[in-house]
Amino acid sequence: MGVPTLGCHCAVCESTDPHDKRTRPSVLLSYGGRNVVIDTTPDFRYQAMRAHIGRLDAVVYTHAHADHILGLDDIRPFNLKQKGVVPIYASAETLALIRRQFAYIFDEAPAESTMPLVELHEIDGPFDLYGARIIPVPAMHGSQPVLGFRLGSVAYLTDFSRVPESSKALLQNLDHLILDALRYVPHPTHSTVEQSLALVRELKPKHAWFTHICHDLGHAEANARLPENVRLAYDGLQFEVPL
Ligand SMILES: [Zn+2]
Ligand SMILES: [Zn+2]
Ligand SMILES: [Zn+2]
Repeated sequence: MGVPTLGCHCAVCESTDPHDKRTRPSVLLSYGGRNVVIDTTPDFRYQAMRAHIGRLDAVVYTHAHADHILGLDDIRPFNLKQKGVVPIYASAETLALIRRQFAYIFDEAPAESTMPLVELHEIDGPFDLYGARIIPVPAMHGSQPVLGFRLGSVAYLTDFSRVPESSKALLQNLDHLILDALRYVPHPTHSTVEQSLALVRELKPKHAWFTHICHDLGHAEANARLPENVRLAYDGLQFEVPL
């Protein structure tokens, strides 16, 4: 829902710490002069401005929940500037849901105004994107499948409640693991702080970053209770990794 959460006046929503301002979860991968985003959130336009991205070369989707796809319409300026389509990569289920949610994009009728121009690519295993190897990491988000992604020694795994053993095998020897930790209280479709800490202890990444954090966690207060190698991620966090 983002933090501050609409209508809420809790201590975290009213915090003056900039780390407590959380837009919806997304990651920008910049390499070889290319910009690839994971998910287009309802905050995509603002996030792309904040990151000063001058081009968009691909979108990779984790799943089709509203907080991860609703910014898709805002890729249009990049279509116009780059005079072409933006390839999007997702599982077959996610592509089907995107087609339904954005039916107007795929409508055969001639458009009277600008439309997002996309080219759909189904993810059915590891794939190469502009020279980087992207390994999908399947997980469960309640009863729904979701994809995490590994590039080199970094993995991004948002919106999950369970990681199958076969996927844990793909998450070994990581320098950075970015993972869902919604809140302390159990949730049917998200990992809690305690569950994510257990996964971190099991997978042993050098660094772990919690994401998809709701207003139950204040940045400074929650960080103070975490082990040294586990931190809350925050808007604008950047780091470099070898690919
Ligand atoms: Zn609040
Ligand atoms: Zn979700
Ligand atoms: Zn989500």
